[in-house]
Amino acid sequence: MRMKGRVALVTGAASGIGRAIAEAFAREGARVGVADVDAAGARTVAEAITASGGSALAVSMDVTREDQVTQGVDALVAHFGGVDVLVSNAGVQHIAAVVDCSFEAWRRLLAIHLDGAFLTTRACMRHMVAAGKGGCLLYMGSVHSVEASPLKAPYVAAKHGILGLARAVAKEGAPHGIWSNVIAPGFVRTPLVEKQIPEQARDLGISEQEVVKNVMLKNTVDGEFTTLDDVAQLAVFLASFPSRALTGQSVVVSHGWHMQ
Ligand code: NAD
Repeated sequence: MRMKGRVALVTGAASGIGRAIAEAFAREGARVGVADVDAAGARTVAEAITASGGSALAVSMDVTREDQVTQGVDALVAHFGGVDVLVSNAGVQHIAAVVDCSFEAWRRLLAIHLDGAFLTTRACMRHMVAAGKGGCLLYMGSVHSVEASPLKAPYVAAKHGILGLARAVAKEGAPHGIWSNVIAPGFVRTPLVEKQIPEQARDLGISEQEVVKNVMLKNTVDGEFTTLDDVAQLAVFLASFPSRALTGQSVVVSHGWHMQ
């Protein structure tokens, strides 16, 4: 029960990594806001958490919409009495070479990752500062926050940008007891990754098996995918770390794909 009594908002929590973090937080005693643009998916996850004895609220939220973020965070605070932890996790991928990438696709990806991280940070920080109890901001970066790959320029740019936001709010948050860190996973088999395997195979002219072995897992130390539980355990560790010495950092969980 490392998170007992705390309230956490997790975006993109209807699926994949966000869902795993929301469930892990609830198992550790947190009351969780399950936020997603997929409102039905968010309800399903919140109901599953409640059915297993946890406490959760589904929050319908498109993180690119200022009004929806404000209303969603206000609703969470009204329901649970505050917000102590934000996990800015909602994200998408877009596979295209820069020369083939539409401006619309570029803007959509940056809006979800960066506008979403900014809007949810601002809304949660305002409540945290007003409550005067401090708080924890976690951002879902990626190995692509510190490495680049072809066909992923918008994603690589957005994930590098997340590092800057997390470091800036680590400095602005410190006087208020708010700390901020980035989780940077390697490849995890979620819908976001399953979708890009055939897309990369098509664009690179190789088989799907080669995409997995020679692209996704090529630089890991053991050829293994990172798991949902690996990432969720790291999120619990960072959210429950007992000292505010750990702030402005990124922690890479990638089977050694990137070593820092
Ligand atoms: P996923 O597709 O399983 O889940 C992403 C969730 O985000 C979905 O539920 C989707 O509805 C939600 N979402 C998308 N746009 C949204 C919006 N505008 N507002 C609110 N919610 C929105 O993907 P995932 O793999 O679990 O990815 C989660 C995060 O982890 C992303 O930020 C991704 O970049 C990051 N990440 C994933 C991997 C990986 O290998 N899967 C590796 C590193 C980082």
